[in-house]
Amino acid sequence: MSDIRSLIGREADIPRVVRAIRICAEEIDVSAAGGYHITCSDESEWESAELFDRLFAQQVLPRLKMDRAAVFRTMNLGGRYETGAIHIAEEHFATFASRQSAKVMVVKVNSHVGLIRREGRFLYGTLKRYGNDSACCGALVSLNSGSDLQAVAELAEQFSADGHDRLSELQDEELISPDYRALLTAVVNARLQADRVLEDIRTKMPESPTVFLIIPCVTINRNEPDNELVVGEYGVDATGSELNVKYHGLGSNPLEYRIEIDRGLLKITDDQYA
Ligand SMILES: [Zn+2]
Repeated sequence: MSDIRSLIGREADIPRVVRAIRICAEEIDVSAAGGYHITCSDESEWESAELFDRLFAQQVLPRLKMDRAAVFRTMNLGGRYETGAIHIAEEHFATFASRQSAKVMVVKVNSHVGLIRREGRFLYGTLKRYGNDSACCGALVSLNSGSDLQAVAELAEQFSADGHDRLSELQDEELISPDYRALLTAVVNARLQADRVLEDIRTKMPESPTVFLIIPCVTINRNEPDNELVVGEYGVDATGSELNVKYHGLGSNPLEYRIEIDRGLLKITDDQYA
């Protein structure tokens, strides 16, 4: 099993996650690479962004200028995929080298959740920030508590993909413990935003032959170095005339998730990925 698959559903330190993504990209064995990172606007996501830049972009991507590489970025409330972005990002990395054979286009899709430990309990959805208990992810907490933000309306619509009312399930205390609501909302969001990237990839062939690796992840923001949980891995081969899509990982049904804390680290399985 590849390193990235062994991390699915398991909380791990971010350098380990990013290295596993890099190895997975390098194993595809093509001559060029591109990168795209989707995160929430929340400043607590700096660490995830910086490590993806340092341990992936600077190691793998072509130089943009001044001997620096950079990923294409989307940053907005809740880390929502912006329709059309994958095509623009892919076109940017459709370099001469990529046209000679193919490229791997890594799309890391981050949702996030704060964690504080108090009196032996794990409290997800809150971060100690500037001396205060602060909602984290604020956009996803607002999604569950109600808000008139445009971003929250978009997220609510996306959470009902395929006619499945995930929000009612996440908000039902009989079905899902409120202790895990913010965490599981972030897992569902990461998976759904990755699905939206895939849907968009299906609308247009890439500028140069491409294998897309779409990795939905949840950052666990803490007062120590953050960790991440890999939700799944999409491999989308768009090097021929038809797309070949494979997915390994958790689904987007919150009722199927099973949570364990194993030696202080989170482990999530579901009926799709036990
Ligand atoms: Zn956020």
